[in-house]
Amino acid sequence: MTLRSALGSHWREYAMEAAGLATFMVAACCFTVLLEHPASAAQAIDPGVRRALMGAAMGLTAIALIYSPWGKRSGAHLNPAVTLSFWRLGRIPGHDALFYGLAQAAGGIAGVALSSLLLRDALAHPAANFAATLPHAGVAAALAAEAGISFLLMLVVLSVTGSRHARWTGVCAGGLVALYIFAEAPISGMSMNPARSLASALGAGDLRSLWIYFLAPPLGMLAAAVVFRGRAGCAKLDHAAGVRCIFCEQRPPRTERPKRVVILGGGFGAVFAAQELERQLGGRGDYEVVLVAKDNYFVFQPMLPEVISGTIGLMDLVSPLRRLLPGTEIHVREIESIDLEKRTVTTAPGFLPHPHVIEYDHLVLALGTVTDFRGLRGLPEHALPFKNLNDALRLRNHVIRALEEAAVERHDEKLRRQLLTFVVAGGGFSGVEVVAELNDFVRTVAASYPQIDPAEIRVVLVHSQDRILPEVSEKLGRFAQRILAARGVELLLQAKLSAATGEEAVLADGRTIPTRTLVSTVPSFAHPLIDALQLPKNKAGRILVTPELEVRGLVGVWALGDCAQVPAVDGTTAPPTAQHATRQAKVLAGNLVASIRGGARQGFDFKGLGKMGSLGRHSAVADVFGLQISGRLAWFLWRTIYLMKLPGFGRRLKVAASWTFDLFLPPELVRFRFANQDLLLREHFEPGQDVFHQGDLGDRIYAILDGEAEVVVHGQIVARLGKGELFGEMALLDHTTRSATIRCSQPLTVWSLPKKELALLAQGMPELQRSLEQLKSRRLRPTA
Ligand SMILES: Cc1cc2nc3c(=O)[nH]c(=O)nc-3n(C[C@H](O)[C@H](O)[C@H](O)COP(=O)(O)OP(=O)(O)OC[C@H]3O[C@@H](n4cnc5c(N)ncnc54)[C@H](O)[C@@H]3O)c2cc1C
Repeated sequence: MTLRSALGSHWREYAMEAAGLATFMVAACCFTVLLEHPASAAQAIDPGVRRALMGAAMGLTAIALIYSPWGKRSGAHLNPAVTLSFWRLGRIPGHDALFYGLAQAAGGIAGVALSSLLLRDALAHPAANFAATLPHAGVAAALAAEAGISFLLMLVVLSVTGSRHARWTGVCAGGLVALYIFAEAPISGMSMNPARSLASALGAGDLRSLWIYFLAPPLGMLAAAVVFRGRAGCAKLDHAAGVRCIFCEQRPPRTERPKRVVILGGGFGAVFAAQELERQLGGRGDYEVVLVAKDNYFVFQPMLPEVISGTIGLMDLVSPLRRLLPGTEIHVREIESIDLEKRTVTTAPGFLPHPHVIEYDHLVLALGTVTDFRGLRGLPEHALPFKNLNDALRLRNHVIRALEEAAVERHDEKLRRQLLTFVVAGGGFSGVEVVAELNDFVRTVAASYPQIDPAEIRVVLVHSQDRILPEVSEKLGRFAQRILAARGVELLLQAKLSAATGEEAVLADGRTIPTRTLVSTVPSFAHPLIDALQLPKNKAGRILVTPELEVRGLVGVWALGDCAQVPAVDGTTAPPTAQHATRQAKVLAGNLVASIRGGARQGFDFKGLGKMGSLGRHSAVADVFGLQISGRLAWFLWRTIYLMKLPGFGRRLKVAASWTFDLFLPPELVRFRFANQDLLLREHFEPGQDVFHQGDLGDRIYAILDGEAEVVVHGQIVARLGKGELFGEMALLDHTTRSATIRCSQPLTVWSLPKKELALLAQGMPELQRSLEQLKSRRLRPTA
């Protein structure tokens, strides 16, 4: 872009910069007269307080300008030294930097001139002196102070713009301006801005000290740009969405893709690794970080049991991935397969059934484990898992429904008993936390059901060992047992769940517990995607990695969290907990970056800070820093520590508020009814429309209810389909992509069924399976 064309297409942004500094100077002049002129009533105020007031006024002015519509559009540099630093980092082209500098100078001069017209002699009075910046404590001190404050301001601006807190950049910058005016102005007059000092010096007719403000601020800010190691954002202090950005527009389109680190998962391991990689890899543009997860949010699992009772709001527990990872490309898709040879990851289709393949240069596996009731009769059909947000919400809805049903069930005593019995299997941390919350919840809300006698409610914990919480000492385990028992939880120890029906839980010794609510927090199995990979694994299917978190014998593939067996330096294995996953993420990111940029690698040697588990209402157990604590103190510790660990200040505030209200208000008793997701879809197509394309992923089978369609292969019509005929089964049966395009030729109405549901139907109906196979062979038979 030439200077001329830049002026032609970006003059509005230049004008906004000029207007911004002009406004700032008018404010500076007005507040200086208001506070410093001998005739002002403010003279009665202590000089230190006056400086604080001036700081607050100018800090707020800066914030208002940065977040104003014009500030958002131009980027609100308002200062040639800021523009110069962004230019040094390659964030603003030379032509724009030049015009920004000129516009800022012109704006500053115009602002002082306008103020002079408004305030006349008052501004020229030596006490106001056109708001000039002068070295009050000597030239050397002023030079050093100006350079120092400019360096710090720019470093903060760069760090915040490139971080997930980017929207706070303006507040940080305004806050620093306020602080500097209060604390630093007695040394150098506080400028940090050559254009601002020039405007005041011209007004005052005194250019003697101007060189200090021409030299020190640009030097300080340039130094910050040089030492800054993070990922700088765009050259805007507030990069608001939906506002034109002349800087982003000018970035040349890439001719080749940057190298890519692909992270699979959206839990503790994946999110913390992505955050660290964003920080360490950002800025240079040679690597991009891509994260693939099936949900667009991160769940803070340690607090998940509290969703059952509604102690904390559903939304307070989750953080949108896009907010946590502003510099990561996020794909919210279910991962379907991983190809270690081709170095690709394939995700499930979205709105259109096209295969979506992501190539990677480095792969990070953080898929956790899955709850799998394989081999346990009736559990897949009747037990409720407890691992993610859906599970928690489903359980809560289920429990409220059971109470509602029990309240109106008067005839069938057996059913009533089943409805009012709640069974949790697994006495580890998650099982104990779930049973404690469930017990507190049902017993508290029972008061809202006059038809239910509290004595009818049974809450049972089934555990295979002779005491619960094997993760902590015997003393804490026994304490937990006493608390739960005192609150009405029946403990069935040395009992193993072996089967379930819709009406009862069956134990290995033949005993049965009548129930309509069975929760199982065990067992966890290797994730099927990990299972399918040819990687070194332990017996439980966890990937064997080196202490540096790289998969053994495989360069460029990394694993962490619950899906990996991570050796610690002392030879032990890291347990599958969030506190370990987050620490592994840091080590992994450091080592991955070292493998790209060079540098020493580090082994994982975190031993854990301790273990804590909530027992519900005001009680917990904690084994931290070698201390064993139980009861209220442990509960207070549990809440404080987990509150601090929640990502985001706002979220912490919301949870703290929910906990506080929970002390006085009864628990929420709302049951959500979600519309059934339509599995069997009825769809209509008009002539010329394609139902699917050749090469798409086979995700559904179709049957024609009415109308006609053509089968098109490589542009040629090879067959016609009519009412009652099936199509789309080939790709489903062969697990391949569509071999033909199906195009509507006459108004077409179809029903369609997803792949998974078809497989389930065919499994239970061998005739259906057979006819699908026959249809396939008929289709493959060459036509005469
Ligand atoms: C109820 C409960 C309470 C807990 N309490 C504590 C505690 O108090 N302290 C503690 O340290 N630990 C606790 N844990 C354990 C801790 O949550 C796990 O160790 C931690 O979550 C492991 O992190 P991860 O990243 O390995 O796996 P996960 O957090 O399980 O993340 C796996 C991610 O992969 C995604 N994923 C899976 N399959 C696919 C797919 N096919 N496509 C796309 N995405 C996919 C999932 O959606 C998920 O985002 C608790 C766990 C539970 C279930």
